[in-house]
Amino acid sequence: MTPRELWVAAAAAAPLLSYFLGRFNRWAGVAAGAGLFLLASFMLAGDIAAGAPYASLALWTAAGLAHSALLNGRAGAPPDRTRLEQALARAVALEKELAVIKTETTVNAAGEKKSLAVYSAVKLLSETVEPPAAAKQLGRHLADYFETEDAVLYMAGGSAGMELFAQGARGVSLPALSGLLAAAGGLPAEPAVFSGVTLAPVLAGGEAVGLLAVRGGTQGPESAGRFAGEISFALKRVMLFRQVEWLSLTDGLTGLWRRGALDEKVKEEIRRASAFRTTMGFMIADIDHFKHLNDTYGHQFGDAVLRRVAELLKSGVYETDFVGRYGGEEFGFVLPRAESAGVLRKAEAIRARIEAEPFSQGLEQVRLTVSIGIAHFPRDGRTPEEVIARADAALYAAKEGGRNRVMDAGNL
Ligand code: GH3
Ligand code: MG
Ligand code: MG
Repeated sequence: MTPRELWVAAAAAAPLLSYFLGRFNRWAGVAAGAGLFLLASFMLAGDIAAGAPYASLALWTAAGLAHSALLNGRAGAPPDRTRLEQALARAVALEKELAVIKTETTVNAAGEKKSLAVYSAVKLLSETVEPPAAAKQLGRHLADYFETEDAVLYMAGGSAGMELFAQGARGVSLPALSGLLAAAGGLPAEPAVFSGVTLAPVLAGGEAVGLLAVRGGTQGPESAGRFAGEISFALKRVMLFRQVEWLSLTDGLTGLWRRGALDEKVKEEIRRASAFRTTMGFMIADIDHFKHLNDTYGHQFGDAVLRRVAELLKSGVYETDFVGRYGGEEFGFVLPRAESAGVLRKAEAIRARIEAEPFSQGLEQVRLTVSIGIAHFPRDGRTPEEVIARADAALYAAKEGGRNRVMDAGNL
């Protein structure tokens, strides 16, 4: 083999060297292959001028080198650490993003629950025609919004100025309203915390229509204020609705039940007494010679006397009894589950109480008396009409007997 043939063979073998050395290190292989080819080219410098065969050899070598560099890059290269780490970092970042989205979703869900509670409360108060039923449901929304059962809504009205309207479903353990208001120094103008209880006034057009009281839970005074603001006009509507309903059922002068409402009570109690085999007492009290009092002292004094008599009558019976103004100066009483001896005693006590009451007109003291008629279900009648008619008959007998007396239909 001539040296010339030897260098031609070396030049032709350059790509093979590049490939096999490249198995261990890609660029070392390429460099070695290229180096060998250049060396061989240098040694063959004289022949290169010969032209074509060398050019094709050079082309073949270049293609071989490129091919080996590519091939070794794929198969033999050690795994790319940085890419793996990048992928890992990306996964961690994605996981973080997911966690953020998760907490945001939870926060949104909690916010949505609150918005829903407010929305439901406003809708409920805006649409109800039955405040007691609405109050029950409202308690649920209060508990949802404040995340505590210790949440109460008072509504303006009643003798104390504010009365309980709705509360958390399982009942509350808040201090009495009077104590809370004393701690706050009266109805607060702004939402604030007083002795551990958040109080937020419910204001509609500057008028206090209610009061929120919340202990514990997750909402601060601002949040309670927002709730109060949202429900204010709907609550005012319920307040007015109740007032109208109340006015139509009760007598404007005395605050006692009107005749219609009392008649309903008689029917209801007789139904109940029939079902449970109990009794019901019914009384009518009529002021004696009231026309004379009106004629002597005037209607205005007559009205004041009627108001006072109504108070005395109401305080003469149980809370669970019903007292109504039956007509001008006539009053009816429904006494559930009463027995006749007890009713007679009660009527006698009322009669004596009114006889003893000094009604004053200027410097003068005016005395008056009442006559009372009593009847019982089922003893004196089976229907409301029969029972009432028997009580009326007993009253008539009391008037006939000289007034200022009690008469039981059982003794007629
Ligand atoms: P008696 O002992 O028989 O019951 O005599 P009386 O005068 O009380 O009886 P009567 O039923 O004839 O008169 C009732 C009077 O009550 C008539 C009216 O002057 C008066 N009266 C009825 N409603 C009112 C009212 O709302 N205000 C006032 N001031 N008086 C009334
Ligand atoms: Mg009378
Ligand atoms: Mg009368």
